[in-house]
Amino acid sequence: MSSKRSRNRKSANVHEAYFEAMNAMFEQAKAYFGSAVKSFWFHEGVICPACLKNEIGNVNFKGKEALGLNAFMYRKRGVLIGYFLCDICTNYIHAQSQVNPYKQTALHTDIERNLEEAYLKHLSSLN
Ligand SMILES: [Zn+2]
Repeated sequence: MSSKRSRNRKSANVHEAYFEAMNAMFEQAKAYFGSAVKSFWFHEGVICPACLKNEIGNVNFKGKEALGLNAFMYRKRGVLIGYFLCDICTNYIHAQSQVNPYKQTALHTDIERNLEEAYLKHLSSLN
């Protein structure tokens, strides 16, 4: 039963590292969006917010394992939302960005809708 405990500890460390990264991203976003950015929130679910099927996972990036931190600015609430994707969605978005560097994909629309829902659910869970 220690496997669950060590997994939780590992995930706590990962969250700590990404909290730092998220903080840095938040500072950048404040510089870019100004007072429109009021806070940030990290999507902690293990299921990919793009496909809602696969678990978020490591991505093989240039031969190295990486966990890519992404962020989306939920303008209506002034919240910068950080999230991870599964490797399939990450690779898809990466491939699309090679073809159309500045174009949003339909998957981004799904991600944003799902993250907004998750964020609102998170807010209502605080009540
Ligand atoms: Zn996915």
